[in-house]
Amino acid sequence: MPSAWAPAPGLEPNLPPYEVFTAPIEKPEIDDREYRILRLQNGLRALLVHDPDADKAASSLCVAVGAFHDPDDAPGLAHFCEHLLTKGTEPYPEEGDYIAYVCAHGGSRNAATGGMSTDYWFAVAPDSLAGALAYQAAFFYAPLFTPELTKREVHAVDNEYRRNLQNDTRRMNQLTKHLSLPGHPFHQFGTGSYESLTESPRRTLPEGTDEERILLETRSRLVAWWEAQYCSRRMTLVIVGKDSLDALAACAVPLFSKIPDRGLDPAPAITAPVWGPEHKGTLVFAQTAKDVHKLALQFALPNLASYWESRPVSVLAHFLGHEGPGSACAYLKQRGWLLELTAGLSTGSHARGPQIFEIGCLLTVDGYLNYESVLATLFQHIAVLRAAQPLPDWHHAELQTMAATRFRFAQKAAPHRYAQALSRTGSQPYPPEHVLSGPHLFRTRDDAVLRRVLDGLAPREGRAFVWAPTHRAEVVGDDGLRTDGWATERWYGTRFAVRPLGAALRARLEAAIAPDARYLALPRPNPFIPSEEGLRVDKGPEGAEPAKYPTLIVRTAAARLWHKQDDRFWVPKADVYVVVKSRLAYASPRHAMLSRLLVDLVDDALAEVTYDASLADLAYALSNHTDGLVLHVSGYRDKLAVLLRTVLEKLRTLAVAPDRLRVAKEKIRREYENFYLQQPSNLSEQFARWAYEPVVWTPAEKVPELEFIGEKDVDGHRDALLSKVALEMLVNGDATREGALEYLSLAEDILRPRPLLPSEIPTRHALVLPEGSNFVFRKRHANKNETNNALSYYIQVGLEADARSRAIASLLCHLMHEPPFSTLRTKEQLGYVVAANRWSVAGATHGLLVKVQSPRPPWAVEARVDAFLAGFGDTLGAMAAPAFAAARAGLVAARRERAKNVAEEGARFWARVRAGDCDFVRADTDADAIGALTLADACAAYDALVHPARAAATRRKLSVQLVSQHTTEAPPAPAPGAEAEAAFKAGLGRTPAARVVVSRAFGEHEGAERALLEGGGPGSGVLGRFL
Ligand SMILES: [Zn+2]
Repeated sequence: MPSAWAPAPGLEPNLPPYEVFTAPIEKPEIDDREYRILRLQNGLRALLVHDPDADKAASSLCVAVGAFHDPDDAPGLAHFCEHLLTKGTEPYPEEGDYIAYVCAHGGSRNAATGGMSTDYWFAVAPDSLAGALAYQAAFFYAPLFTPELTKREVHAVDNEYRRNLQNDTRRMNQLTKHLSLPGHPFHQFGTGSYESLTESPRRTLPEGTDEERILLETRSRLVAWWEAQYCSRRMTLVIVGKDSLDALAACAVPLFSKIPDRGLDPAPAITAPVWGPEHKGTLVFAQTAKDVHKLALQFALPNLASYWESRPVSVLAHFLGHEGPGSACAYLKQRGWLLELTAGLSTGSHARGPQIFEIGCLLTVDGYLNYESVLATLFQHIAVLRAAQPLPDWHHAELQTMAATRFRFAQKAAPHRYAQALSRTGSQPYPPEHVLSGPHLFRTRDDAVLRRVLDGLAPREGRAFVWAPTHRAEVVGDDGLRTDGWATERWYGTRFAVRPLGAALRARLEAAIAPDARYLALPRPNPFIPSEEGLRVDKGPEGAEPAKYPTLIVRTAAARLWHKQDDRFWVPKADVYVVVKSRLAYASPRHAMLSRLLVDLVDDALAEVTYDASLADLAYALSNHTDGLVLHVSGYRDKLAVLLRTVLEKLRTLAVAPDRLRVAKEKIRREYENFYLQQPSNLSEQFARWAYEPVVWTPAEKVPELEFIGEKDVDGHRDALLSKVALEMLVNGDATREGALEYLSLAEDILRPRPLLPSEIPTRHALVLPEGSNFVFRKRHANKNETNNALSYYIQVGLEADARSRAIASLLCHLMHEPPFSTLRTKEQLGYVVAANRWSVAGATHGLLVKVQSPRPPWAVEARVDAFLAGFGDTLGAMAAPAFAAARAGLVAARRERAKNVAEEGARFWARVRAGDCDFVRADTDADAIGALTLADACAAYDALVHPARAAATRRKLSVQLVSQHTTEAPPAPAPGAEAEAAFKAGLGRTPAARVVVSRAFGEHEGAERALLEGGGPGSGVLGRFL
């Protein structure tokens, strides 16, 4: 067979030699991108993607080594290396330069360390690609690992580890790793901490060696590790750009050819078994940090990577994770034992390494008490699947059809996501021509391997974890509660006890006797799979200019309908959004709770039906909001109306069953109680947000209502809410005008509401802080084990309706996006979570948020934030004109980015409909307004709105300090407003003001709406003006 690789034609005289893959690459039918695969002289593989429409360029480099390649005595070294590589190289020695460059050019960047690979990606404005690639390539041929930074960055890794300590997913993952063969790479602790990274040098250096010397020793080990592991042959580079493939090659080849070739195995594999006999057939009881009950059944699979054409693991996950009638999931829910079921490879599994298959069951307390029966049901379900081998052909045909359809109509996503996903497939076993399709298609059917894997899913081969915040005697036995039988996992402090499966339970599981085995069966044919006719797309005339916004095609007292037929993406898919507005949805804590229960119970009642729809890429989401209920259905046009009808009919006619209500209440109660235990930085941000909304019913205010709610109450609430509503819809995508009207009449026929009076239509408000305010809210974190504090520091900048203010806020946030990261995180090492972002409340106000999570007291952090903001005022004042112009241009380009797919386009339109302004061209308006701002404008705004000293009398600032129970230092002074939020809110003004409330819905925007009515002929001038 002739080789599919050929030497590259000499494009440019000075280019280092490389090879090009010459066979055609299999790609989706609608994909207009061009692809080229290169192999550089040093063995690095590169996939170049030319996308004529890309408004961002992106690159991702994936190295086929990760945390599983850490030295035994330095857990976390691969992750530590990832932190340092991007912060200083020989050609670009300044540690913050790369991030500053990417941010200034409208981009974003990150890196991630997995078990078997590590990837480094960025996205930037297309004309800045070459500059960013030069930074990226240097990570891999000339990193500095400066001693100064290395010493500081150990703390960043340590803070990242401490952030995760109370995260149950991380705790579960680490315990799974801990309970595997010692010495196996999977056993390691991948994140690393100060302790893990310095432990070995501390042991080998003489006692009493100072910390500085120890850290330098850690650094030399790091450098040695990097030299031993980072090899060009292990790297896969993916670049997505607007330039031609020749131009991309000419840019990338010289840069990435500099990476040293150390002659290492390009795709190192780990084949040693991950479990010993002592791990199989066991039961592990373990403690969660939050209120979570979970059963996880695990099996260590043989490595199946070479079966990529038949994908046995995906087939297993499909059947064992099924939620339709006859599934273990449906049965366990019916018994009131299960909240959620998942099946698939567990975190840390990898094609080149250990693969652990997990069936995870999120349980009710009743399910926890009956965990043996739950386990028996899972084994019974496996037995049903085993007995059905070989499967009837239609099962495979369905899987193949859906996978092929998904691939055929795969739409574009953000370029950096695409680059990252593709770079990760570089070390997978797909041949180059299948690099795009490899992970997605079912090419063949292999009954033998499926059978073999199923035979391995036996009780003697598996192991089950039973997780709970505290274990009960009914489950672990009176003896089991004694503390001496429990061990503690070293890094996360998780308490656990390992037991062999008892003889009786083992016999029961081996016989696979479920409580009601007759119920279990394989799935029936899926009625939601689209027909070939339903996938036909009629493309519009070539060269027609796509419309920029939807048209208002129905406007009555009862309903409004927006419609835009797809004219850009040509996929047989559509999005239908419906909002059912009513003040009853959120009138009181009780109303809010009833709305939430209604939505959850409809979901619950639909689960078995809509699971088939979800397999056919038809999705729905029903949610409750302060102004009503929102339904979104999306997917292939063919069966979309069936799904919409199914959901609306269930909403209209659901009869609440007492046992389902009990489970729904348990789920909500738990969610609300866990709410206060979440990561401090997220919680402080949530508290800050609440402070800006006039009416918020908090979880603590809603939970007590649960006790007083019965089935009849939910039914009654639904009837009252739906009896009189304002209906607003958007149909976007592959739907004709007639089709859109049919969706509306379907909704009206089922709901049959009376129209609301204009003044009955709910509107959202935001509070406006007085000038010169400097509010501090201080709260204690509820989790006694959480050692981190958090600060959310919010500055209100202006009103959303004010285009210039939006531009100012966006520009200041853009300029300030990176500096807090490099100052407060990298230099001062205050904590792992450091962010500065734009914020908006209720679509009415906006501002700037600085968020820090730190082991240090939040008032001390606030002082550092103030110092930073003061310093940044000077940085801004001294900014060079070209740097400002480049940063502004990057932001303008980001604002002008077009939607990547039909769903994203629909979501953008819907956001404007929901905000009530119908300003569909806002992004362009904002881009123009930002482009008109000067550096002097930015400085003036900063000094008037943000600067802690210069703007002391004019700025509007509020911060939330969330204090850990471990922080014992006394705060500097009593915080104003700390315990009196209601009084605080009562004293503030609101926006939009009362006068606007009525006119907002039907008055103020009338001109714009009329312009958007069919035949109205909107000019962008009209749209630009009506705010
Ligand atoms: Zn990290």
